[in-house]
Order: sequence, then C-alpha cells, then structure tokens
Amino acid sequence: MLNILFSAKPAAWAEYEGPLNAAFAKVGLAAHLSLDHAPEDVDYIIFAPNGPVTDFRPYTNTKAVMGLWAGVEAIVDNETLTQPLCRLVDDSLTNGMIEWVTGHTLRHHLGMDTHIFGQDGIWRDESFPPVAADRPVTILGIGALGAACGQALHALGFPVTGWSRSPKDIPNMRCLHGTDGLYEALTDAQIVILLLPQTQETVNILNAETLSLMASGGFVINPGRGPLIDDAALLAALESGQIAHATLDVFRQEPLPQDDPFWAHPQVTVTPHIASTTRPETAADVIVENISRGEAGAPFRFIVDRRRGY
Ligand code: NAP
Repeated sequence: MLNILFSAKPAAWAEYEGPLNAAFAKVGLAAHLSLDHAPEDVDYIIFAPNGPVTDFRPYTNTKAVMGLWAGVEAIVDNETLTQPLCRLVDDSLTNGMIEWVTGHTLRHHLGMDTHIFGQDGIWRDESFPPVAADRPVTILGIGALGAACGQALHALGFPVTGWSRSPKDIPNMRCLHGTDGLYEALTDAQIVILLLPQTQETVNILNAETLSLMASGGFVINPGRGPLIDDAALLAALESGQIAHATLDVFRQEPLPQDDPFWAHPQVTVTPHIASTTRPETAADVIVENISRGEAGAPFRFIVDRRRGY
C-alpha cells in the first residue's frame, strides 16, 4: 500500500480525491490518499505551493513530489526539498492554453475590438482584416505549452518563430535559441507570446531593449509569468506606440492590486491568471501514471532540473 499525502489548498482535496482514487484503481496500485500521513510514512507527495507542506525534511522516505502546477518558481529554490520534483504536463492544461493563446492572438490580429466596441451605425467596408500569413508571431518558450501553441498558430497560417534555451527542431516553426536567437526572434515580430518559466535568466526578458526590436505597433501576450516583463518598460512602449496592446494574464503581484495602472490602461487587457488551469480528471491520470512508472523502476517523467530552475 502506497501512502500518498495530498498537500494543496484545502478546497482542492474535494476536486482531486475522487479522480486520484480512480486513477490508482485504473493502474492497479493500492494507495492510501490522505491530507494527514505521518511524514516518515509518506511515499509520494502530491503538491501545490499553496498547500501546508513547506518543509520537506521530515519526509525521509518520500520517493518523489508530484506537482499539480506547470510553473515551479515557488518551490524550486526550497532547499529542504531533496526528493525528485515533477511538474505537471497535462493535455487539458495544454489545450486550455492553446485556446486562450489563439483566442487572444486572433483578437489582436483581426482587430476585433474595432467592431465589437465601435458599432456607431457607420458602414466602414474599406478595410479588410489581414491574413495570418502576413503576421509573424514569436513565442518565447517552446516547451510543453509554447510548442503546442505554435502548432495551433501555424495551422491558422501564422509564420511562427519559437525561442528556447537549448537548440530545438520543431516542425512548422523557425526555432531559435540563446541570446542571439532572442534578438533574431523578436526582430520585426508583430505578436510576441511569453510562455517561459520564471527563472533568474528570464526575469525582465521583455524590457526596453527587447521590446524595441519588435515591429512598431506590435502586440504582447503574456500567459507565462508576470516578472518576465519589465512593467515600466512595457508601459513606456504602450505610451510611445511601439506596442499597440498588451494582454496580460500574470503579474508580479497577484491578485493585481486595484490601483495598478494596468487595470485602467486602455491598451492593456488584464485577465486574472486564468489562461489555463489543471483539470483534476486528467491531471490525476498523469500523476498516477508517473507514480506507477516510479514503482516499476522506470525514470519519472517531467522532472524539474533544480539548477536550471524549471
Ligand atoms: P516547459 O515545458 O518547461 O517549457 C519552458 C520553455 O522555456 C522551454 O522551451 C525552455 O527551453 C524555455 N526556457 C526556459 N529558460 C529559458 C531561457 N533562459 N532562455 C530561453 N528559453 C528558456 O514549460 P511549460 O509547461 O511550457 O510552461 C511554461 C510556463 O507557462 C510555466 O513555467 C508557467 O510559468 C506558465 N503557465 C501559465 C499558466 C497560466 O494559466 N497563465 C498555466 C500553465 C503554465 P528548453 O526547451 O531549451 O528547455
């Protein structure tokens, strides 16, 4: 019998208990899921950073910590965590992100706001929406989420460039990496989508210098993490017209304070960190499948590289 400790925000237990038990039954593993096991008895911790466990030292026999979130910046520097940490890679999380990213990309690409907000009785048929082929899109971060969004945007006809830390060869997109690659990826990009993890290397990656490389009047879409963008530089770029609009899902401080200038800014759309979320039914299957691999002696999937920070 495996002892599985569930450590996330209290409300999550009601959502996850059923799907996790069903997933263990499906793979034929006997598991005792609980919010409260004696630490030394715990085999695996199913974990979110907003749960009660913050000190992993008492969990001396724990084989791995299975994250419920894709982003790990809140846990990766925790020095008490010596067990392997797996982040969440889940199809429904990915599909949710594809939908959010393509929706907001198409909004800006087609200039939908003009007609949604501008119904003034005047029939303006002189200008047509551009085609996607004329709108280069760059995705910073082409891991599980960025690569999938890139495929969807390619399928809609956008020329897609992706940027990563290591060299990549992903079909249907121009793949660039490293510092030189960043400058090339941003140069003349009309829409930039951030799907990088938050690490020491990626904080403020979109700043005055890098924003200035984009095509004038471009769009920024950030479902990655707030600190990826230098907020003051973005506000200045919006002011100058270098950036026409920014759609931001994530912020340095969340919830975004009511007096934050982003809320009232006419060229900023704020969404409250809802781009995509973990769905218990599918996440439970992914996590339990990973535990099952570990129990069979196979390497865990989705292990976080603590030195890289993601
Ligand atoms: P992932 O699979 O780990 O992919 C991360 C990508 O970023 C990889 O392509 C990686 O390059 C690249 N990268 C990391 N550090 C870099 C650097 N210094 N320079 C260049 N590229 C770098 O992560 P994911 O699952 O796609 O998730 C990405 C992020 O999305 C998460 O970390 C989280 O912050 C965010 N997220 C947001 C929401 C939301 O609702 N807003 C939901 C889920 C996730 P390599 O390929 O070379 O490793």
